[in-house]
Amino acid sequence: MVLPLNKITNLVARQVRFLSTNVPKIAIIGSGPSAFYTSINLLKQNPKNLQIDMFEQNPVPFGLSRYGVAPDHPEVKNCQDRFEEFVQEQMSLNKEPNKNKNFKFFGKVKIGKDIHLAELYKNYHSVVYAYGSSAENQLGIPGEDHSGVINSKKFVGWYNGDPSCQNLNPPLDKVRNVTIIGNGNVAIDIVRILLADPETHWANTDITETALNTLKKSTVENVVVSARRGFLESKFTNKEFKEVLEFKDINFDGWNEELFEKLLDGKKLGRVEKRRLQLAKKHTNNNKDTAKKHWRLDYLKTPVGFKVDSNDPTLLKETIFQKRIIDEEGNISDSKELTSTDNELVITSIGYKGEPLPEFQKLGVPFDSKRGMIPNIDGKIDFADPHGTLSYCTGWIANGSKGNINTCVMSSSILADVINSDLQELKITDKPGREEIEKLLENRNVRVTTWSDWLRIQAKEVLLGQESAKPFEKITDYNKMLNVLRD
Ligand SMILES: Cc1cc2nc3c(=O)[nH]c(=O)nc-3n(C[C@H](O)[C@H](O)[C@H](O)COP(=O)(O)OP(=O)(O)OC[C@H]3O[C@@H](n4cnc5c(N)ncnc54)[C@H](O)[C@@H]3O)c2cc1C
Repeated sequence: MVLPLNKITNLVARQVRFLSTNVPKIAIIGSGPSAFYTSINLLKQNPKNLQIDMFEQNPVPFGLSRYGVAPDHPEVKNCQDRFEEFVQEQMSLNKEPNKNKNFKFFGKVKIGKDIHLAELYKNYHSVVYAYGSSAENQLGIPGEDHSGVINSKKFVGWYNGDPSCQNLNPPLDKVRNVTIIGNGNVAIDIVRILLADPETHWANTDITETALNTLKKSTVENVVVSARRGFLESKFTNKEFKEVLEFKDINFDGWNEELFEKLLDGKKLGRVEKRRLQLAKKHTNNNKDTAKKHWRLDYLKTPVGFKVDSNDPTLLKETIFQKRIIDEEGNISDSKELTSTDNELVITSIGYKGEPLPEFQKLGVPFDSKRGMIPNIDGKIDFADPHGTLSYCTGWIANGSKGNINTCVMSSSILADVINSDLQELKITDKPGREEIEKLLENRNVRVTTWSDWLRIQAKEVLLGQESAKPFEKITDYNKMLNVLRD
């Protein structure tokens, strides 16, 4: 068999690079699912000939897998086992813990603060942005900053033990009626958090002890999930919908029948929509006579403001909505008619939003502020850095805060192929990479957490969890995490 000339050139280039000390050095910002899957795929294809440094602002890894995915979905977090196995493999390849050459985790290193983006560009051959979405979309209406309106990012972070959300203290022991604005899977997670029994459903999960104790004292009885569009446009998946419908101690009150029929009028339904409709019909009012807790769907309403409770000004009395109407063709638009829903607390769940890193503008890294994402083609960013460093992105910051962990698996695999193909062409110049970054961190007195540190924190969390038959009890304070490392 005769190989084409370009293949021979590539093979020779690979061999030469393998012999050279100038291995391609890649900096990955973030340690969520997309960062890990990208690392796994890259090192699978280049087992020896690559150096990856992963920078995470938190002392511990895994991003939203740890601080977003609901505590009663442990199977989703199984990806963390795969990530741990991967780092373990890398460490055993190099024998010396924390000295592994191909992969290194730098915990508690925030890019833009502890290390500047410009320093990554100077020291690495490629920079991969995998830093997820740090903000949440806003309703943009008066009263949104009232204490009776909480955004889901904070609420989710609170029950999942994110140290930056621990001062939330949601007043669940003072409210009966909660409205969730937005109807994606995160909204459905929150319905379960608010209504499922803390003792039988949550006690043995990795929900924090603080959140569990708050839920035990909760007086919430009714939850309304409200959205601007109709049932057919609901953002939640049928799997999540079915899960919450099957709780025997929660009643699904259904939806506004009249609006629903109007909405369906003349529409041809797809398989997913038919299934959603069947689920709703099958489960409406099944537990009406037995359940103390209720939830319902409410459609075709745009929130426009809130009324505050005069007895307790820290809470709400109601949310004011503008009704929406459907025309003959099924187009939805705002009407002039107002309506209101009684609620003492509102949780907004209208999507997370990516933000640019502080140096983007100065360096000229492109960012689409409207969609909250870095513009890219298959993860590649069109940005010419003066040091010749290539830029890539993956996960939520590349997709506009959309998709689940399976989406991260797929997009990270595509990105690894793109990076590998670019590396074949790239002239690998001598760049210090990790060596220089470690010096900078030391000079700046940054207390970096290593992978071994994370394993020690995790072991302590498992130990703490054993006391209350939980898989682990998350340490929710950065200083306490660091104290574990001092013990
Ligand atoms: C509430 C909620 C529930 C979910 N439930 C599910 C589910 O059940 N099943 C499912 O498949 N998917 C679920 N998802 C989606 C899933 O979590 C995401 O698809 C996935 O986490 C996105 O991965 P990522 O790596 O792009 O971002 P992230 O997981 O957000 O990771 C980004 C990481 O970057 C770090 N970072 C940010 N800025 C910096 C910086 N300047 N320097 C250093 N590090 C930085 C962050 O701390 C974070 O660790 C859920 C998401 C949410 C919000």
